[in-house]
Amino acid sequence: MILYKTVQDIRSQIKTLKEKNQKIGFVPTMGALHEGHLSLIRQSKQHADATVCSIFVNPTQFNDIKDFEKYPITIEKDIMLLEREKVDILFLPTVAEIYPDGTKEVKHYELGYLENILEGKYRPGHFQGVCQVVHRLLEIVQPDALFMGQKDYQQCMVIKKLLEIEHINTNLIIVPTKREEDGLALSSRNVRLSDDAKEEALAIYKTLNHIKNNIQLASFEELTQNGEAYLLNNGFSKVDYVSIADANTLEPVEKYVAGQKLVALIAAFKDPVRLIDNMTIN
Ligand code: AMP
Repeated sequence: MILYKTVQDIRSQIKTLKEKNQKIGFVPTMGALHEGHLSLIRQSKQHADATVCSIFVNPTQFNDIKDFEKYPITIEKDIMLLEREKVDILFLPTVAEIYPDGTKEVKHYELGYLENILEGKYRPGHFQGVCQVVHRLLEIVQPDALFMGQKDYQQCMVIKKLLEIEHINTNLIIVPTKREEDGLALSSRNVRLSDDAKEEALAIYKTLNHIKNNIQLASFEELTQNGEAYLLNNGFSKVDYVSIADANTLEPVEKYVAGQKLVALIAAFKDPVRLIDNMTIN
């Protein structure tokens, strides 16, 4: 694995790969890598000739400064894991490399309603930050395929929109969520939870399963309200949303219609950590 820290250096290597007609797979991350990230890398290794992974904790996507400051950093372990997966290139830029003109005067993306619902509603500015960093990274890496996790469902839809509005010719491949054996979705933020808190955090997965299994048996209002109550009664301090939405558009859905693909989504605080998860319902 070759590690690049500057845009100039990685660009010249990308140019060489392109000249050799190598298909490039790209996995952007914020580090603190776990099996979820590695599943994206394995998909890229299968699809592409060269796999590029980036590790960059993007300041512009954090609406909560404490979340940014406490974001776990495990760079030595990450490098070891990426070497083991035989990743070809690791891009490890500084903030100045990604935002040479600073983080204040950054581009604004027209994301429409996607920006103001669910995560967008509770994390103002978050998806603008995600688009700023992903757009910049895509310009640098110029991948044929971009691998992202279903774990961040709305993020995948936002990036799909980004590729459309910026006319970027990269194939977005969405990889299913990796979970612990008991069902807890893997997340870098899980390291901030005690073992007991992790066990309690399973209430999110249980709620999603309950919604899925009862989708035709109860009203959506009942399912989401009961879900929220269940989380609050089982160790969660605050629930941002329990929502059932159209799986293609993320628009809220009020009742079951045969054939409509749905997704149930949850964001809730298992103090001090905000956790998100989702489950598709066909
Ligand atoms: P992050 O480092 O949290 O920005 O995540 C980098 C990429 O890994 C994103 O595309 C995430 O959706 C994806 N990812 C995070 N957790 C998981 C998981 N449990 N399963 C699959 N992909 C994941």
